[in-house]
Amino acid sequence: PDLIGDSCAFKSIKVAIKCRPLTEREQGRDIVRVKHDKEVVVLDPVFSKDYLDRIQNRTKEKNYCFDRAFGPGCTNLDVYTACISSVISGVVQGLNATVFAYGSTGSGKTYTMVGTKSDPGLMVLSLHTIFDLIKKDKNSDEFEVSCSYLEVYNEVIYDLLEKSSAHLELREDPMHGIVVAGLRCIKVHSADKILELLNLGNSRRKTENTEANGTSSRSHAVLEITVKRRQKTEYCNQVMRGKLSLVDLAGSERASEANSGGQKLRDGANINRSLLALANCINALGKPQKKGLAYVPYRNSKLTRILKDGLSGNSQTVMVATISPVDSQYHHTLNTLKYADRAK
Ligand code: ADP
Ligand code: MG
Repeated sequence: PDLIGDSCAFKSIKVAIKCRPLTEREQGRDIVRVKHDKEVVVLDPVFSKDYLDRIQNRTKEKNYCFDRAFGPGCTNLDVYTACISSVISGVVQGLNATVFAYGSTGSGKTYTMVGTKSDPGLMVLSLHTIFDLIKKDKNSDEFEVSCSYLEVYNEVIYDLLEKSSAHLELREDPMHGIVVAGLRCIKVHSADKILELLNLGNSRRKTENTEANGTSSRSHAVLEITVKRRQKTEYCNQVMRGKLSLVDLAGSERASEANSGGQKLRDGANINRSLLALANCINALGKPQKKGLAYVPYRNSKLTRILKDGLSGNSQTVMVATISPVDSQYHHTLNTLKYADRAK
């Protein structure tokens, strides 16, 4: 009922932009200017006149408006506090949610999702909140938290918590919807070890050297946190299950630009297929009055099939689009902003 008459309430996808700082190697070359909170203007080169000319010939300054925009001085915690923490309480109440990082290779996706010891990422911070909320729970509900970590590479699913490189298949389960058969699911009792676990998992991710980038991550990594809550009262014994999917998407740069052939080109095509499928699903979901009625093409890729529960129904979705301040990434940045703009 509170959906009627309030166009904002229809919105199921929140879009945030995060611009990383210059790395040490890049420093002194160019800067990014972030206008106040909601509006980002990208790329304000001060050192390269040639670049400025190029930009001015090519395009007028472009402005985009998103739910939130985070500049190079912001931490993962800033992003988390503003965009993610409110989603987590829903997960503990049995709702589903999806958070994904979208952007080209080197723009800061993994940094945002996994982070470091001093700047823990959204995956780590989410798990911390989940355990905090469980601790604070006043009822005598029983909780069980479990995690799985997988990658989709070339439309094949691999378990990042296992050494083995077995191909995993998707199955439709009448009780739990779409499940990955044989995926390792570990019970966790605190958020302590999660960073190590994620780093170990990430070291197993498939990477390739491409001409355009050093090591480019060509796989989508999905951390699934399931919170099972058993409510025990005199009259009922109800189990609720909330699922949070946190996704570190593959680099969004196009295979054609990477100028690499053979195997790598096929990787690129499949990555685009998953990203395209995701974009199409998000577009369909974003049409407010049609939510629940519109045809959402989940079946078009492994990634969208896996994420289906976390995107549909009353699930909450947050997209963090990561961009780099470097002028050589101008094209990628613009593409990312366009993609993010379509998702709104
Ligand atoms: P991606 O996963 O999108 O390919 P990474 O997360 O690996 O990109 O980030 C690329 C580089 O930028 C890494 O060296 C990373 O440590 C650095 N980086 C990204 N975001 C930040 C940040 N907010 N603060 C400091 N360094 C960052
Ligand atoms: Mg990465």
